[in-house]
Parts: sequence; C-alpha cells; structure tokens
Amino acid sequence: MSSHSDNLIVEPVARLIEALSRLPGIGPKSASRLAFYLLRADAQQARNLAQAIQAMKEQVTLCVRCFNITVDELCPVCASPTRDQTKICVVEEPLDVLAIERTAAFRGLYHVLHGHIAPLEGIYREDLKIEQLLARVRSEPVDEVILATNPNTEGDATAYLLLKDLAPLGVRVTRPGRGLPTGGDLEWADPATLGAALESRREL
Ligand SMILES: [Zn+2]
Repeated sequence: MSSHSDNLIVEPVARLIEALSRLPGIGPKSASRLAFYLLRADAQQARNLAQAIQAMKEQVTLCVRCFNITVDELCPVCASPTRDQTKICVVEEPLDVLAIERTAAFRGLYHVLHGHIAPLEGIYREDLKIEQLLARVRSEPVDEVILATNPNTEGDATAYLLLKDLAPLGVRVTRPGRGLPTGGDLEWADPATLGAALESRREL
C-alpha cells in the first residue's frame, strides 16, 4: 500500500492495519475497518483483545503425546480415562480435532501432524509429526490408525506416505469413507457428513 492518502493515517493506526492485514482472509480494506473500529471502541474492549492474544500465545502449548493444543502437558483427549486407547485418528491440524469431536462419532485418540506433505511448498516428511506417530504405534496398544488427512491432493499424498510407514507395524490402517467433499478441508465438512464418513471408514 503506498499512495498519498497513506500520509493521512498516523503511524500507530498504520501499524495496526499492517498487522491485521497479515491475518488470513483479511484484506487491506477489512484491516482498515477493524483498526478504525478499535480506535472508536472503549479502552477496555481493545485491552481485552490485546490481552487475549497475548495470554493465548503464552499459555497454549502442544500436547506431548498427540500434539493437539493444550494448556497442560496432556490435552483433554489424552488425559481422559474414557477414550479408546486402541484407535488413533491422524489429522493435519488442531482444528480438525475440533471438527471430529463435534461429530461425536469417534471416541479414540488423535495425532496431529501439523500440516501435510507438499514438496512444492517446501514441506517435507521431517517437518511433520510422523516419527512421533510411528513411535506411538510401536509403544502404545494401538490396533487401528485412521488417516483423516484432508480429502485433497496433499492430504491423499500424505495418507499414502503414512500407509507405507505404518504397513510394517502390523496395525489396521483406514481412511474415512465416501461422502466428504473431494478437494476440501475436514474443518469445513458438516458434522453429520464427517461423522458418517468416519463410521464408514475402509481399510487401505
Ligand atoms: Zn493429546
């Protein structure tokens, strides 16, 4: 953004607009609108927002077992005594855990990869939590691994790679069944569709 009108925006406002416009889905126009909204908002509201962001960054960490987000050493799923310890559902992002939990169709554990294989974007096997998954399958009483990576090209490629890694370990490897919109993200699937896909999972 560089036009003569930029000179009219004082530096603290310009700085916030710049920071907001780096957020996903927020263009320069939305960023300006939000910044001017916060400028008019009362001081407490603006302070709450700033403190919520800071507290989240300070307090939220990754579960030492499944790499879901947590404020404790273990996430709520791993810490629960009622979850089925023999099933691990592998997902790309913590948001996918939330999407699957909303379906109430799965009572096992998770493993969050934190991405998918995408060599063109410079994301390789070692950038994901794959070795940690294999270590869990070797040491925990797992009998099924559900590869719930996104139903798109990168998600399919990641699932295929994981299948090759998991095959020698003697676990059942499955993938959610039909019904999920191809090319999409799990987090956008409606709970009924996602739940049905998980229940109709098929062996790879
Ligand atoms: Zn966990």
